[in-house]
Amino acid sequence: MSARLTVDLDALAANWRALDALSGGTASAVVKADAYGLGAKKVGPTLARAGARRFFVALPDEGAALRGALGPGPEICILGGFAPADISLFRDHGLVPVLNSAAQARAWFDAMPGAAAGLQVDSGMNRLGMEAEELASILPLPDAVGFVTSHLACADEPEHPQNATQLAAFRAMTDGLGLPRSLAATGGILLGEAFRFDFTRPGVGIYGGAPFTDARAVVTLEAPIIQVRDVAPGESVGYGAAWRASQPAWIATIAAGYADGILRAAGQGGLSAFWQGRRLPLVGRVSMDLITLDVSRCEGIGPGAMIELLGTSQGVDDVAAAAGTIGYEVLTSLGSRYARRYTGG
Ligand SMILES: *Cc1c(COP(=O)(O)O)cnc(C)c1O
Repeated sequence: MSARLTVDLDALAANWRALDALSGGTASAVVKADAYGLGAKKVGPTLARAGARRFFVALPDEGAALRGALGPGPEICILGGFAPADISLFRDHGLVPVLNSAAQARAWFDAMPGAAAGLQVDSGMNRLGMEAEELASILPLPDAVGFVTSHLACADEPEHPQNATQLAAFRAMTDGLGLPRSLAATGGILLGEAFRFDFTRPGVGIYGGAPFTDARAVVTLEAPIIQVRDVAPGESVGYGAAWRASQPAWIATIAAGYADGILRAAGQGGLSAFWQGRRLPLVGRVSMDLITLDVSRCEGIGPGAMIELLGTSQGVDDVAAAAGTIGYEVLTSLGSRYARRYTGG
């Protein structure tokens, strides 16, 4: 028996539709990092059926794999930009680079004259994108340039002053370019009308993560109990003897660990698991393949019982909070050892 990851494709499609509605029907779909760990091969076609026509991934290899899943129609854009070494991936799979520097732009225009591209400008995050002078240096733009984007650094904090600063910088850099514009990812969509421009680029909200708190849960992760034992007062459990029983305890060992995305840090942060709606505290450290739970008050529990680690009782953001991280990292850490099951779609 092994852990089981269930991805609810109906919930995923509903989340995309909700974000698309909030975007005035302009949402693209961000499916980088294998659709945030959930499987781009299934997620991509589900979102295409829901109505997504433009997709974003980080790397050309991801784009090539996504093209295989989506077939010819939808636009697939590469956030990481263009490097000449990847020319055949772009050409063979009809990928659209998001050009992040004047050098990338010139290389693309030279290598693929007339082929579609997008631009990214830096509005203040200082990660990817052209500065104003770089943008000026490649004007006038070829007709094949189809859109211009930028990315917000603080969109998950609505009160953060950098949101307004970046909005103003984006306007200043792109007013008058005559191109469709995109600034908002999930957080930006929720900041309101002024941030939405011509199309949006939601990612994490599609997969059920904050800051889209109205999202439906998409992921359920369950793992079986493989052994149950009595632990006497004074005995310890797990590596480092980090947990010691103060009273007689009944401890269940579950077949999932940090190699399966049960972040080790979450063990120190009060991670729980759930069985038939009941909360089971994690005791001791998270190991690579195993965790241990206190099941002392659970009549009838035993080997073979499936324990919920992610789902409606405890979402990706709850686990993230326990680990001192964000839902994005919980999702993309989900391992490949599971039996994966897709429902709906
Ligand atoms: C990852 C990413 C997105 C999607 O962001 P979410 O916060 O997951 O919605 C959009 N645009 C860019 C440039 C990104 O890197």
